[in-house]
Amino acid sequence: MLQRYKFINLWLAMAFVTVYFSLGSNLGNRAENIAAALRLLDGAMGCCYSALSRLIETEPMGFAGDTFLNGAVRYRIPRPEASAEVAGLALLDKVKAIERAIGREDIPEYDAAGRRVYHSRAIDIDILFYGNEQIQHERLVVPHPGIADRPFVMVPLRQIALPSLKKAFPEIFVAAEKCVAISTDSGRLSPTGLSGK
Ligand code: AMP
Repeated sequence: MLQRYKFINLWLAMAFVTVYFSLGSNLGNRAENIAAALRLLDGAMGCCYSALSRLIETEPMGFAGDTFLNGAVRYRIPRPEASAEVAGLALLDKVKAIERAIGREDIPEYDAAGRRVYHSRAIDIDILFYGNEQIQHERLVVPHPGIADRPFVMVPLRQIALPSLKKAFPEIFVAAEKCVAISTDSGRLSPTGLSGK
C-alpha cells in the first residue's frame, strides 16, 4: 500500500509541476484587481487554481502608500516539455501581460545605488516557486528571492504550501517563520476576512 502511494506521488511529481504565485494590490478596487488576476491566471495556466490563501491587509514595505491586499495561489499544471527556465520565462511573459491588462503600467525603477524603487500598483504578481526548480536568469529568479523576508508573501504562502515544498526548501521556510513572528507581534499584518472567490 505504502509502495503504491510512493509510486503515485513519484508519477505526479514527474507529470505535473506545482507553481506558486503571490498577489498584491494597493491601488483602485484591490479585491476586484485580485479577482481579475485570478481569472486571468486560470486562463493562462489552462486550469482553475488548486488552492488560494485568505487575503491579508499589509502596510507597504519600502515606500509610502495605501494598504495592500495580499494573497498567494497554487496551481498544478502538466509539466511542459521545455526546460524549467524556458517554461518559466514564458510564464513570466504571461504574468506581465496580466499585470498590464489589470492596469499596471510602470516599468521597474532603480535608485542611484541600484536599489529597486517601489510605487503603488493595481496588481503585482510574482512567481514564488516553479516546482522544485531553481532558475537564475536576468529576468527571472526562482524561488523568488524576497520570500523569506517578506511577511506579506510568507503569511499567505504558508497557508497553501504543500509539505513537499517545505521539505524541498527548508532554509526558506525556517527563515520566513522568524520574520513572520516579528511582523505578527508588531501588528503589521491583519486578516481581512476576504478569501477571494
Ligand atoms: P515586479 O516586482 O513585478 O515589478 O517585477 C520586476 C521584475 O522582476 C520583472 O520585470 C521580472 O523580470 C523580475 N523578476 C525576477 N524574478 C521574478 C519572479 N520570480 N517573479 C516575478 N518577477 C521576477
